[in-house]
Amino acid sequence: MPGFELIDSQEKEIVNKIFDDGGILFAHGFDALRKNYHVREFEESFNDILRFNHSLAVSSGTAAIKIALKALDVKAGDEVITQAFNFIATVEAILDLGAIPIITNIDNSLNMDVEDCESLITKKTKVILPVHMLGMTADMEGIMNLAAKHDLKVLEDCCEATGAKYQGKYVGNVADAGAFSFDFGKVITTGEGGMVTTDKFNLDKFSREYHDHGHENNPDYPRGRDTKTIFGFNYRMTEMQAAVGKVQLSKLHIILEKNKERYMAIEENLDKSFTRRQIHQHSEPIFDTFIFQVKEKERRDEIINLLNKEKFGTKNLPDAIEWHCAYYWDHALSEEQIQRTEKSKEYLHTMIAIPIWLKRTPEDYLELAHKINKFIS
Ligand SMILES: *Cc1c(COP(=O)(O)O)cnc(C)c1O
Repeated sequence: MPGFELIDSQEKEIVNKIFDDGGILFAHGFDALRKNYHVREFEESFNDILRFNHSLAVSSGTAAIKIALKALDVKAGDEVITQAFNFIATVEAILDLGAIPIITNIDNSLNMDVEDCESLITKKTKVILPVHMLGMTADMEGIMNLAAKHDLKVLEDCCEATGAKYQGKYVGNVADAGAFSFDFGKVITTGEGGMVTTDKFNLDKFSREYHDHGHENNPDYPRGRDTKTIFGFNYRMTEMQAAVGKVQLSKLHIILEKNKERYMAIEENLDKSFTRRQIHQHSEPIFDTFIFQVKEKERRDEIINLLNKEKFGTKNLPDAIEWHCAYYWDHALSEEQIQRTEKSKEYLHTMIAIPIWLKRTPEDYLELAHKINKFIS
């Protein structure tokens, strides 16, 4: 769950220190005046801790997806395949490039259904964009095999899964590139912010130039005389965001540890008759949401009422399902895309997502599991 729960004096102090040190808020230049390069240091720490070759800090997760898609050469008219359980940002990033979002149904992990994905591949398909929703990795082995077979690129949307692993690798490192978000509700937060990760030099080079008006940051020239070969846009992160990001990142392992303790308290105590969200083989999720199925509407509503009464709430399912299920996006998707996701919508409506709050104790979650067990008829 959100890094915002662990914000303390460290975040405050590092931001104050920027101002005490001269108040340089821009990531580039001002070399004679500045003492730190927080954006560059945040990127380096992200590389070190999550073992990426290249990390590029940007202004949001949505920007990270768009930049990575553009770096993967997605152009107007190309098709990008993503999934029904998702966030609207992913579809927006595709549409903003003039490309066409194609939506797969979901499997029992609530992520991309690989077979359905294969059935949707056409001559226009350029990129597969699986989303590791609510901390759980997609079936990356299936997706990477599919991409190899059809000669496609893969971008991982890791916005909700910072720190999750697949086959021992951190997500964002499994495919061609990864996109992360640090908005206020994410695993770690910078208020708003994102990261593009890749092990490919050329993808990083393009992304770096594109997110910064085409600047090559040529060491032979001052910034005002910098060289350029492409035009870009402004998706830069500020020093204030990156300073907070450095502190938040240093807390990532604590967040993951605390998540798991709480998650396991429900997992071990909730009656086995409840079907859990599937965890794919080779997947190490971040355990920030416990999702299970309750098919009967009445019983489901009773459990949701309990979760609200006990102030846990529900997360996305069903709480914000309209923002997370493609079936509801008739302002952005074709009628055909919407119709074919009805199956996923029906399935998602049988699910309950319990958020893992770091400020609640493992005992709170154990007790919650016992209370939910009382609803078994
Ligand atoms: C949060 C999120 C995004 C967008 O990130 P922002 O930083 O809010 O722009 C994209 N995809 C998914 C799955 C997300 O959860």
